[in-house]
Amino acid sequence: MTQTATELSFAQHLSENPKTAQERAAILANPGFGDYFTDHTAVVDYTASTPGEGSWHDARIEPYGPIALDPAASVLHYGQEIFEGLKAYRHADGSVWTFRPEANAARLNRSAQRLALPQLPEQVFLDAIAGVVQADQEWVPSGDGESLYLRPFMIATEAFLGVRAAREVSFRVIASPAGNYFGGELKPVSIWISRNYARAGRGGTGAAKCGGNYAASLLPQLEAEAHGCKQVLFLDQENNNAVEELGGMNVFFVLKDGSLVTPALSGSILEGVTRSSVLQLGRDRGLDVQERTITLDEWRDGVASGDIAEVFACGTAAVITPIGRLMDENEEIGSADAKAGEVTLSIRAELLGIQTGTVEDKHGWLHRL
Ligand code: PMP
Repeated sequence: MTQTATELSFAQHLSENPKTAQERAAILANPGFGDYFTDHTAVVDYTASTPGEGSWHDARIEPYGPIALDPAASVLHYGQEIFEGLKAYRHADGSVWTFRPEANAARLNRSAQRLALPQLPEQVFLDAIAGVVQADQEWVPSGDGESLYLRPFMIATEAFLGVRAAREVSFRVIASPAGNYFGGELKPVSIWISRNYARAGRGGTGAAKCGGNYAASLLPQLEAEAHGCKQVLFLDQENNNAVEELGGMNVFFVLKDGSLVTPALSGSILEGVTRSSVLQLGRDRGLDVQERTITLDEWRDGVASGDIAEVFACGTAAVITPIGRLMDENEEIGSADAKAGEVTLSIRAELLGIQTGTVEDKHGWLHRL
Protein backbone atom coordinates (compact mmCIF):
# COMPACT_ATOMS: atom_id res chain seq x y z
CA MET A 1 0.00 0.00 0.00
CA THR A 2 1.36 3.41 -0.93
CA GLN A 3 0.82 6.24 1.52
CA THR A 4 2.03 9.72 0.75
CA ALA A 5 1.11 11.33 4.08
CA THR A 6 3.80 12.49 6.50
CA GLU A 7 2.50 9.87 8.95
CA LEU A 8 2.43 6.18 8.24
CA SER A 9 1.08 3.53 10.54
CA PHE A 10 3.52 0.76 11.28
CA ALA A 11 2.14 -2.76 10.82
CA GLN A 12 3.29 -5.10 13.59
CA HIS A 13 4.83 -8.42 12.59
CA LEU A 14 6.29 -9.53 15.87
CA SER A 15 8.96 -12.19 16.16
CA GLU A 16 7.82 -15.74 16.86
CA ASN A 17 11.15 -16.67 18.34
CA PRO A 18 12.59 -13.70 20.23
CA LYS A 19 15.57 -14.26 22.52
CA THR A 20 14.56 -15.90 25.78
CA ALA A 21 14.65 -13.89 29.00
CA GLN A 22 17.81 -15.81 29.98
CA GLU A 23 19.54 -15.12 26.65
CA ARG A 24 18.67 -11.46 26.92
CA ALA A 25 19.85 -11.25 30.51
CA ALA A 26 23.19 -12.83 29.53
CA ILE A 27 23.66 -10.19 26.82
CA LEU A 28 22.56 -7.30 29.04
CA ALA A 29 25.00 -8.42 31.72
CA ASN A 30 27.83 -7.42 29.40
CA PRO A 31 26.52 -5.71 26.27
CA GLY A 32 29.70 -3.96 25.08
CA PHE A 33 28.96 -1.73 22.10
CA GLY A 34 27.27 -2.71 18.85
CA ASP A 35 27.71 -6.46 19.18
CA TYR A 36 24.16 -7.62 19.94
CA PHE A 37 20.85 -6.66 18.42
CA THR A 38 17.30 -6.67 19.71
CA ASP A 39 14.47 -8.85 18.37
CA HIS A 40 12.84 -6.30 16.05
CA THR A 41 13.56 -3.77 13.34
CA ALA A 42 11.51 -0.99 11.75
CA VAL A 43 11.32 -0.82 7.96
CA VAL A 44 9.79 1.70 5.57
CA ASP A 45 10.23 1.40 1.81
CA TYR A 46 10.30 4.14 -0.79
CA THR A 47 9.54 3.93 -4.48
CA ALA A 48 9.77 6.72 -7.06
CA SER A 49 9.05 6.81 -10.74
CA THR A 50 11.57 9.67 -10.95
CA PRO A 51 14.10 10.38 -8.18
CA GLY A 52 12.67 12.68 -5.53
CA GLU A 53 9.06 12.17 -6.62
CA GLY A 54 8.14 8.98 -4.89
CA SER A 55 6.50 7.98 -1.65
CA TRP A 56 7.22 6.03 1.50
CA HIS A 57 5.13 2.91 2.01
CA ASP A 58 4.88 -0.44 3.79
CA ALA A 59 5.92 0.84 7.20
CA ARG A 60 6.33 -2.15 9.50
CA ILE A 61 7.93 -3.53 12.60
CA GLU A 62 9.30 -6.96 11.80
CA PRO A 63 11.62 -9.56 13.33
CA TYR A 64 15.31 -8.62 13.20
CA GLY A 65 17.10 -10.60 10.51
CA PRO A 66 19.12 -10.54 7.27
CA ILE A 67 17.99 -8.24 4.46
CA ALA A 68 17.30 -9.81 1.06
CA LEU A 69 19.07 -7.53 -1.43
CA ASP A 70 19.63 -7.97 -5.13
CA PRO A 71 23.40 -8.29 -5.78
CA ALA A 72 23.04 -5.28 -8.10
CA ALA A 73 21.47 -3.10 -5.36
CA SER A 74 23.17 0.23 -5.82
CA VAL A 75 24.09 0.61 -2.14
CA LEU A 76 26.48 -2.33 -2.63
CA HIS A 77 28.26 -0.66 -5.54
CA TYR A 78 28.07 3.08 -5.13
CA GLY A 79 27.54 3.42 -1.39
CA GLN A 80 24.33 5.43 -1.57
CA GLU A 81 23.73 5.12 2.17
CA ILE A 82 23.26 7.35 5.21
CA PHE A 83 22.74 6.65 8.89
CA GLU A 84 22.11 8.14 12.31
CA GLY A 85 23.00 7.23 15.88
CA LEU A 86 21.10 8.06 19.07
CA LYS A 87 20.32 6.41 22.37
CA ALA A 88 17.26 5.47 24.43
CA TYR A 89 17.72 5.84 28.19
CA ARG A 90 15.73 4.21 30.98
CA HIS A 91 14.96 6.58 33.83
CA ALA A 92 14.62 5.56 37.47
CA ASP A 93 10.80 5.33 37.20
CA GLY A 94 11.15 2.81 34.35
CA SER A 95 10.15 5.26 31.57
CA VAL A 96 12.22 5.31 28.37
CA TRP A 97 13.41 8.49 26.65
CA THR A 98 15.50 9.57 23.68
CA PHE A 99 17.59 12.73 23.53
CA ARG A 100 16.77 15.31 20.81
CA PRO A 101 15.61 12.73 18.22
CA GLU A 102 14.20 15.58 16.12
CA ALA A 103 17.78 16.78 15.61
CA ASN A 104 18.77 13.34 14.31
CA ALA A 105 15.73 13.33 12.00
CA ALA A 106 16.76 16.73 10.64
CA ARG A 107 20.38 15.65 10.17
CA LEU A 108 19.25 12.46 8.40
CA ASN A 109 17.39 14.65 5.95
CA ARG A 110 20.41 16.90 5.42
CA SER A 111 22.49 13.78 4.72
CA ALA A 112 19.72 12.47 2.42
CA GLN A 113 19.78 15.69 0.46
CA ARG A 114 23.57 15.43 -0.12
CA LEU A 115 23.41 11.75 -1.07
CA ALA A 116 20.42 12.22 -3.43
CA LEU A 117 18.22 10.08 -1.19
CA PRO A 118 14.58 10.97 -0.44
CA GLN A 119 13.50 13.12 2.51
CA LEU A 120 11.89 11.17 5.33
CA PRO A 121 9.08 12.90 7.28
CA GLU A 122 10.20 13.58 10.87
CA GLN A 123 7.14 11.81 12.24
CA VAL A 124 8.01 8.62 10.36
CA PHE A 125 11.54 8.74 11.82
CA LEU A 126 10.15 9.20 15.34
CA ASP A 127 7.49 6.50 14.91
CA ALA A 128 10.03 4.01 13.57
CA ILE A 129 12.19 4.53 16.65
CA ALA A 130 9.21 4.35 18.99
CA GLY A 131 8.02 1.17 17.25
CA VAL A 132 11.31 -0.66 17.75
CA VAL A 133 11.75 0.49 21.34
CA GLN A 134 8.16 -0.46 22.19
CA ALA A 135 8.55 -3.92 20.68
CA ASP A 136 11.89 -4.40 22.43
CA GLN A 137 11.27 -2.58 25.71
CA GLU A 138 12.95 -5.22 27.81
CA TRP A 139 16.16 -4.55 25.91
CA VAL A 140 16.55 -1.04 27.30
CA PRO A 141 19.12 -1.48 30.07
CA SER A 142 18.86 0.37 33.36
CA GLY A 143 22.43 0.19 34.68
CA ASP A 144 24.67 3.19 35.21
CA GLY A 145 25.87 4.56 31.85
CA GLU A 146 23.87 1.96 29.90
CA SER A 147 21.44 2.65 27.07
CA LEU A 148 19.85 1.18 23.98
CA TYR A 149 21.76 2.51 20.97
CA LEU A 150 19.49 3.16 18.00
CA ARG A 151 20.80 3.02 14.46
CA PRO A 152 18.45 4.44 11.81
CA PHE A 153 19.77 4.08 8.26
CA MET A 154 18.68 4.55 4.66
CA ILE A 155 19.97 2.48 1.74
CA ALA A 156 19.51 2.46 -2.03
CA THR A 157 17.97 -0.94 -2.79
CA GLU A 158 17.26 -0.55 -6.51
CA ALA A 159 19.04 -3.14 -8.69
CA PHE A 160 20.91 -1.49 -11.56
CA LEU A 161 24.50 -0.71 -12.44
CA GLY A 162 24.14 2.70 -14.01
CA VAL A 163 25.45 5.45 -11.76
CA ARG A 164 22.41 7.48 -10.78
CA ALA A 165 20.21 8.17 -7.76
CA ALA A 166 18.19 5.08 -6.91
CA ARG A 167 14.41 5.05 -7.22
CA GLU A 168 13.99 2.31 -4.63
CA VAL A 169 15.17 2.98 -1.12
CA SER A 170 14.67 1.46 2.29
CA PHE A 171 14.77 3.16 5.70
CA ARG A 172 15.38 0.95 8.70
CA VAL A 173 16.04 1.17 12.41
CA ILE A 174 17.96 -1.43 14.39
CA ALA A 175 18.77 -1.32 18.10
CA SER A 176 21.71 -2.56 20.13
CA PRO A 177 22.15 -2.51 23.91
CA ALA A 178 25.18 -0.46 24.94
CA GLY A 179 27.20 -0.81 28.11
CA ASN A 180 28.98 1.82 30.13
CA TYR A 181 31.51 3.13 27.62
CA PHE A 182 33.98 4.09 30.31
CA GLY A 183 33.66 1.04 32.53
CA GLY A 184 33.13 3.42 35.44
CA GLU A 185 36.36 5.32 34.96
CA LEU A 186 36.72 8.47 32.86
CA LYS A 187 40.21 8.37 31.43
CA PRO A 188 41.59 11.00 29.04
CA VAL A 189 42.28 9.51 25.61
CA SER A 190 45.21 9.87 23.23
CA ILE A 191 44.45 11.06 19.71
CA TRP A 192 46.46 10.45 16.55
CA ILE A 193 46.97 13.31 14.07
CA SER A 194 46.15 12.13 10.58
CA ARG A 195 48.79 13.77 8.37
CA ASN A 196 48.36 11.58 5.31
CA TYR A 197 44.62 11.28 5.04
CA ALA A 198 41.79 13.79 4.98
CA ARG A 199 38.26 12.92 6.01
CA ALA A 200 36.50 15.42 3.79
CA GLY A 201 37.16 18.21 1.35
CA ARG A 202 35.33 21.30 0.23
CA GLY A 203 32.14 20.32 -1.57
CA GLY A 204 32.48 16.71 -0.41
CA THR A 205 30.32 14.72 1.96
CA GLY A 206 31.96 15.62 5.30
CA ALA A 207 28.82 17.24 6.71
CA ALA A 208 26.72 14.18 5.84
CA LYS A 209 26.58 11.03 7.90
CA CYS A 210 27.20 8.61 5.05
CA GLY A 211 28.92 5.25 5.17
CA GLY A 212 31.63 6.30 2.71
CA ASN A 213 33.06 8.83 5.16
CA TYR A 214 33.57 6.06 7.68
CA ALA A 215 35.02 3.63 5.13
CA ALA A 216 37.63 6.30 4.34
CA SER A 217 38.42 6.74 8.04
CA LEU A 218 39.26 3.09 8.70
CA LEU A 219 42.83 3.18 7.40
CA PRO A 220 43.84 6.27 9.44
CA GLN A 221 42.01 4.69 12.40
CA LEU A 222 44.21 1.58 12.07
CA GLU A 223 47.25 3.87 12.00
CA ALA A 224 46.00 5.54 15.20
CA GLU A 225 45.47 2.22 16.96
CA ALA A 226 48.91 1.01 15.91
CA HIS A 227 50.27 4.00 17.84
CA GLY A 228 48.14 3.36 20.92
CA CYS A 229 45.60 6.08 20.13
CA LYS A 230 41.81 5.80 20.42
CA GLN A 231 40.75 8.11 17.60
CA VAL A 232 42.08 10.11 14.67
CA LEU A 233 42.13 13.89 14.42
CA PHE A 234 41.43 15.14 10.91
CA LEU A 235 42.83 18.50 9.81
CA ASP A 236 42.07 20.78 6.91
CA GLN A 237 45.54 20.69 5.40
CA GLU A 238 44.61 23.22 2.74
CA ASN A 239 43.65 25.71 5.43
CA ASN A 240 46.61 26.05 7.77
CA ASN A 241 45.91 22.72 9.46
CA ALA A 242 42.58 23.89 10.85
CA VAL A 243 41.21 21.35 13.31
CA GLU A 244 38.18 19.57 11.88
CA GLU A 245 36.98 16.67 14.02
CA LEU A 246 37.76 13.14 15.15
CA GLY A 247 36.70 10.02 13.27
CA GLY A 248 33.45 9.90 15.24
CA MET A 249 33.38 12.91 17.58
CA ASN A 250 33.55 16.71 17.59
CA VAL A 251 36.28 18.59 19.48
CA PHE A 252 36.04 21.37 22.10
CA PHE A 253 38.61 23.61 23.80
CA VAL A 254 38.15 25.34 27.14
CA LEU A 255 40.39 28.40 27.28
CA LYS A 256 41.87 29.91 30.42
CA ASP A 257 39.96 33.13 29.71
CA GLY A 258 36.61 31.34 30.00
CA SER A 259 35.87 30.75 26.32
CA LEU A 260 34.51 27.52 24.96
CA VAL A 261 35.74 27.03 21.41
CA THR A 262 34.82 24.47 18.75
CA PRO A 263 35.61 24.40 15.02
CA ALA A 264 32.95 26.21 12.98
CA LEU A 265 30.70 24.16 10.70
CA SER A 266 32.70 24.52 7.53
CA GLY A 267 30.69 22.10 5.42
CA SER A 268 33.27 19.37 5.94
CA ILE A 269 32.53 18.40 9.55
CA LEU A 270 29.53 16.66 11.03
CA GLU A 271 27.17 18.80 13.08
CA GLY A 272 26.98 16.64 16.20
CA VAL A 273 23.85 16.69 18.31
CA THR A 274 26.14 16.53 21.34
CA ARG A 275 28.14 19.46 19.91
CA SER A 276 24.99 21.64 19.66
CA SER A 277 23.98 20.61 23.18
CA VAL A 278 27.43 21.41 24.62
CA LEU A 279 27.33 24.83 22.94
CA GLN A 280 23.99 25.52 24.64
CA LEU A 281 25.19 24.28 28.04
CA GLY A 282 28.26 26.50 27.62
CA ARG A 283 26.05 29.53 26.92
CA ASP A 284 23.89 28.63 29.94
CA ARG A 285 27.04 28.80 32.07
CA GLY A 286 27.92 32.23 30.73
CA LEU A 287 30.98 30.96 28.88
CA ASP A 288 32.09 32.91 25.83
CA VAL A 289 31.06 30.33 23.23
CA GLN A 290 32.91 30.54 19.92
CA GLU A 291 32.50 28.54 16.72
CA ARG A 292 35.57 29.47 14.73
CA THR A 293 38.72 28.23 13.04
CA ILE A 294 41.26 26.80 15.44
CA THR A 295 44.51 25.52 13.98
CA LEU A 296 46.89 22.81 15.11
CA ASP A 297 49.44 25.57 15.84
CA GLU A 298 46.98 27.28 18.18
CA TRP A 299 46.32 23.95 19.91
CA ARG A 300 50.05 23.28 20.33
CA ASP A 301 50.89 26.81 21.51
CA GLY A 302 47.81 27.06 23.73
CA VAL A 303 48.60 23.85 25.59
CA ALA A 304 52.25 24.93 25.98
CA SER A 305 51.35 28.41 27.30
CA GLY A 306 48.41 27.25 29.41
CA ASP A 307 45.95 29.38 27.41
CA ILE A 308 44.12 26.16 26.55
CA ALA A 309 43.06 24.66 29.86
CA GLU A 310 41.01 21.68 28.71
CA VAL A 311 40.35 19.75 25.51
CA PHE A 312 37.53 17.26 25.07
CA ALA A 313 35.75 15.26 22.40
CA CYS A 314 32.01 14.75 22.28
CA GLY A 315 29.50 12.49 20.57
CA THR A 316 26.57 10.22 21.29
CA ALA A 317 28.60 7.09 21.96
CA ALA A 318 31.07 8.40 24.53
CA VAL A 319 29.17 11.59 25.51
CA ILE A 320 32.18 13.70 26.54
CA THR A 321 35.69 12.34 26.70
CA PRO A 322 38.70 14.37 27.82
CA ILE A 323 41.59 14.44 25.36
CA GLY A 324 44.86 14.01 27.21
CA ARG A 325 47.41 13.77 24.43
CA LEU A 326 47.51 14.59 20.73
CA MET A 327 50.38 13.02 18.80
CA ASP A 328 52.00 11.87 15.58
CA GLU A 329 55.43 10.41 14.74
CA ASN A 330 57.12 13.72 15.49
CA GLU A 331 55.37 15.39 18.36
CA GLU A 332 53.24 15.07 21.46
CA ILE A 333 50.89 17.80 22.61
CA GLY A 334 49.57 17.41 26.15
CA SER A 335 50.07 14.33 28.24
CA ALA A 336 48.56 10.85 28.34
CA ASP A 337 47.96 11.05 32.08
CA ALA A 338 46.36 14.50 32.12
CA LYS A 339 43.33 14.81 34.42
CA ALA A 340 39.86 15.64 33.11
CA GLY A 341 39.23 19.39 33.52
CA GLU A 342 36.59 21.05 35.66
CA VAL A 343 34.47 22.47 32.81
CA THR A 344 34.66 19.17 30.92
CA LEU A 345 33.43 17.27 33.97
CA SER A 346 30.71 19.76 34.80
CA ILE A 347 29.23 19.87 31.28
CA ARG A 348 29.50 16.10 31.07
CA ALA A 349 27.66 15.62 34.37
CA GLU A 350 24.87 17.96 33.32
CA LEU A 351 24.45 16.34 29.91
CA LEU A 352 24.42 12.82 31.33
CA GLY A 353 22.06 13.97 34.08
CA ILE A 354 19.58 15.38 31.55
CA GLN A 355 19.77 12.23 29.44
CA THR A 356 19.23 9.91 32.38
CA GLY A 357 16.58 12.02 34.09
CA THR A 358 18.45 13.19 37.18
CA VAL A 359 18.97 16.82 36.07
CA GLU A 360 16.19 19.18 34.96
CA ASP A 361 15.66 19.17 31.18
CA LYS A 362 15.48 22.97 30.82
CA HIS A 363 15.66 22.95 27.05
CA GLY A 364 13.01 20.28 26.45
CA TRP A 365 15.53 17.92 24.85
CA LEU A 366 14.05 14.67 26.08
CA HIS A 367 11.42 12.82 24.08
CA ARG A 368 9.39 10.15 25.82
CA LEU A 369 8.91 6.85 23.99
N1 PMP B 1 31.59 13.62 14.08
C1 PMP B 1 31.50 12.43 13.49
C2 PMP B 1 32.34 12.16 12.29
C3 PMP B 1 30.63 11.45 14.00
O1 PMP B 1 30.53 10.25 13.42
C4 PMP B 1 29.86 11.74 15.14
C5 PMP B 1 28.94 10.70 15.72
N2 PMP B 1 27.67 10.76 15.10
C6 PMP B 1 29.98 13.00 15.71
C7 PMP B 1 30.86 13.92 15.17
C8 PMP B 1 29.17 13.39 16.92
O2 PMP B 1 27.81 13.48 16.57
P1 PMP B 1 26.67 13.24 17.65
O3 PMP B 1 26.96 14.14 18.78
O4 PMP B 1 25.40 13.57 16.94
O5 PMP B 1 26.75 11.81 18.04
